[in-house]
Amino acid sequence: MCYAIPGKVKAFEGKFALVDYFGEEKKAINELTGLNVGDYVYAQGGFVITRVSQKEAETTLETWKDLFFELKDIDDASVKQMPWAGSKYTKVRDMYDKVAAGGRILREELEYLLSAKDAGEREFIKNAAHHLRHQYHGNSCCVHGIIEIGNECDQVCHYCGISALNTSLIRYRMSKDEILESVKVAVEVYGFKALVLQSGEDCGRSIDELIDIVAEIKKRFGVLIFISFGEVGSEGLKRLYDAGARGLLLRFETSNSELYSKLHPGSKFEDRLKDLKTANELGYLIITGSLIGLPGQTYADISRDIELAGELNVEMLSMGPFLPHPNTPLAKHLAPTVDEIVHALSSARFYLLPHVKILVTTGLETLNMSARRLAFLSGANSMMLNVTPLEKRPLYEIYPGRAHQNVF
Ligand code: SAH
Repeated sequence: MCYAIPGKVKAFEGKFALVDYFGEEKKAINELTGLNVGDYVYAQGGFVITRVSQKEAETTLETWKDLFFELKDIDDASVKQMPWAGSKYTKVRDMYDKVAAGGRILREELEYLLSAKDAGEREFIKNAAHHLRHQYHGNSCCVHGIIEIGNECDQVCHYCGISALNTSLIRYRMSKDEILESVKVAVEVYGFKALVLQSGEDCGRSIDELIDIVAEIKKRFGVLIFISFGEVGSEGLKRLYDAGARGLLLRFETSNSELYSKLHPGSKFEDRLKDLKTANELGYLIITGSLIGLPGQTYADISRDIELAGELNVEMLSMGPFLPHPNTPLAKHLAPTVDEIVHALSSARFYLLPHVKILVTTGLETLNMSARRLAFLSGANSMMLNVTPLEKRPLYEIYPGRAHQNVF
């Protein structure tokens, strides 16, 4: 975990640099050569990504000095306001105590949390998850930018608006120059330090082209690159890693292999898992998770989703609502509620401690624009902002009415 502001290298411990942020120390893997104690760096997602000059660092830190502590105070205050003592929800309280002390809850206990019905108990779970987030992550929040580099897709996922089944969608594939221009804006204008490149699973764009794009971004910009092009296979993952990609965003969508087969004709759950496992072995940071609200999905399925994400050494959990798209086989299936999603994120916070980041998805914000705040007060601590060129954004229509269509 790290802040998106410059930090000062204090020491080295093996492959890690210890980076200081206004007196708070965080660890990050260092791959830069010639880095010394006293240098200023940007670190993201656990990696030192670029060095910055002392002058630039000091100017930035001067602006942040007061705000950094102000934001911490606001966060601390949000935690203290909790009506904690004397609660009747002893079962949840016991689980909280266990996790707060560094222990783990059992799968059955996770399922208990997920399936809680009582409104007061659900509120209690959210508050407790907020405490746990604060205890394990402090006030740091991961913010990635996402660029949707193309909506061409050869897959036929039954929920997805950009699947090959949707023949009425206008398709696009951004050129290398267009992608580099978008990255430039994201990094140099908006200051992103971590970027996700996402697209449909597009056989029309070769692995060589993707490698070329990743390598060029790596060469020109100090930014942590996540890839999200669907399944690229072990060899593809290895070559993209060598080109400079350090993160993979690939949801397994559901851990229920039967449900997976129904929703992804022609695709195998095992293949998706294999990519995730290989990526983990190669050293990629893993962002994965599932859709909530799929037809026939049970609490046992969702608890297994959370467990599986843990087994895959997830760095950031991405669990969001299914939202119906009119041109898909699931057009008539209803979306879940905001509360169902936030409740699942809070429950996950109990199970996936201590290091895991939990993402507030655009899907959740599409259900309700104020859901981001609610999720941040219920255990979540990461977000992705869309930096796809505005004219392309409506075409990446995985579901209709996506939040943040018209804003940078
Ligand atoms: N080709 C990439 C990216 C797919 S789109 C891949 O295979 O991973 C990114 C994510 O959008 C998917 O992983 C899926 O979970 C989500 N998504 C697609 N359709 C959706 C829908 N109708 N509602 C909510 N999320 C959806």
